[in-house]
Amino acid sequence: MAQAQKITPRAKDFSEWYNDVVMQAELADYSPVRGCMVIRPHGYRLWELMQQALDEMFKATGHQNAYFPLFIPMSFLAKEAEHVEGFAKEVALVTHTRLKATGKAGAQAVMPDPESALEEPLVVRPTSETIIYAMFAKWIQSYRDLPLLMNQWCNIVRWEFRTRLFLRTTEFLWQEGHTAHATEAEAEAEARQMLGVYRKFQEQWMAMPVLTGRKTESEKFAGALRTYALEALMQDNKALQAGTSHNLGQNFAKAFNVQYQTAAGGLEYVWNTSWGVSTRMIGGLVMTHSDDNGLVCPPKLAPVQVVIVPIWKSEEEKSQVLGVGGKVKEELARAGVRVELDARDSLKPGAKYFEWEAKGVPLRLEIGPRDVAAGQVMTARRTGGKAPAKLDGLGAAVRKTLDEIQATLFQAAKDRRETHSIRGVTKQQFLEFMKGVGGFAYGGFCGSPECEAEVKQQTGATVRVLPDPEFRSAEAPKTCLWCGKPSVAEAVWAQAY
Ligand SMILES: [Zn+2]
Repeated sequence: MAQAQKITPRAKDFSEWYNDVVMQAELADYSPVRGCMVIRPHGYRLWELMQQALDEMFKATGHQNAYFPLFIPMSFLAKEAEHVEGFAKEVALVTHTRLKATGKAGAQAVMPDPESALEEPLVVRPTSETIIYAMFAKWIQSYRDLPLLMNQWCNIVRWEFRTRLFLRTTEFLWQEGHTAHATEAEAEAEARQMLGVYRKFQEQWMAMPVLTGRKTESEKFAGALRTYALEALMQDNKALQAGTSHNLGQNFAKAFNVQYQTAAGGLEYVWNTSWGVSTRMIGGLVMTHSDDNGLVCPPKLAPVQVVIVPIWKSEEEKSQVLGVGGKVKEELARAGVRVELDARDSLKPGAKYFEWEAKGVPLRLEIGPRDVAAGQVMTARRTGGKAPAKLDGLGAAVRKTLDEIQATLFQAAKDRRETHSIRGVTKQQFLEFMKGVGGFAYGGFCGSPECEAEVKQQTGATVRVLPDPEFRSAEAPKTCLWCGKPSVAEAVWAQAY
């Protein structure tokens, strides 16, 4: 990056700001394929760090990784009625297996060979329930084979015409967990457990506070009995669904004939769950923490946690500060810190600061000749604040600072969310809130899909979740905030990505 461009301020245009942050942090770029993005190395490293942390949590809860085909026979999707309806409008189909030369020039030089048309088209997976449960039917015979706990890391295709980097793209990366259980209670416990795993990851690693709860019937996953979700509030006060966990009941087991012999000798259908999070979380991380100078990345997931910028004028100073810088780098790496030493000759320190700030590096260490003489470095936090730190014991001090930054980011995001949440709203307050700055509105809900549809049409807001007990208001609302009929559950409404 030769000349850094300016980032559009959040207050001017949030959507432009978001794009500028993603592009200048070199997380991703647009591709020649409409609807598809390229994840650049800095963004991919962030994804790898997310994967590593999640993968450990999945394994610690007894899940194993496997890999299933990218292609799914079209008839598989049709086996579960709600499921096919939910995904029909966004699938990519493979209909031919080869091309044929036409003898024409340019773009018309080849065409699909009509003779290679597939008898049954293949769907490029929009999610893998169908192909996975077809295999589960083969592998599960008896109660001894249960529970079956699997996960796959893969790519997914859901057709989109508009690209929003990390938030909405035709192809994206994710993980999908799929499990089979002997009882409904076990499946329910699994779906809840994985929601908890996601919450722990999003709060402790991404420093992104989330509300958890159940989706309404109209917002649940196509084919699920119950869907649970995690919802985070972005800086523009729109909600981002950060992950989902489904209790699929026996719907797919019946469609794919996944049965097991019980201990008593009877035959029963299994109970399934599926759960997933995707590269969309990177968009959530960006919109939770970043500022007008670029990406702000929580230290636990920062591809580079510390950058050392040596400052010199003379050659003598250069060898001195680079020498100390090299030693500091070694010490920090030994302490388990992801660290870079920016020794480039071609850039002035100020330009380097600018670049690493845009990339979201949580902590910068500046080392000038005077610092060397004093046996110290100057530390500068990405989120503001400069202080000298002694070279002696620097590894431990840096680790402590990174932990502090992590905790501060989480608290700030949580405070922001609570500032933009209102409870016990009347219809009038709700309308004003959604027309104004917006945020999470807690209110009574009668449970009717008609109310949901009307609210969506008039305010753009949807029920994000029927919140879990810890998020509910002290006093349960008595009436639906929209129609005034008795409330069956408190709901959290927001406009969403
Ligand atoms: Zn209502």
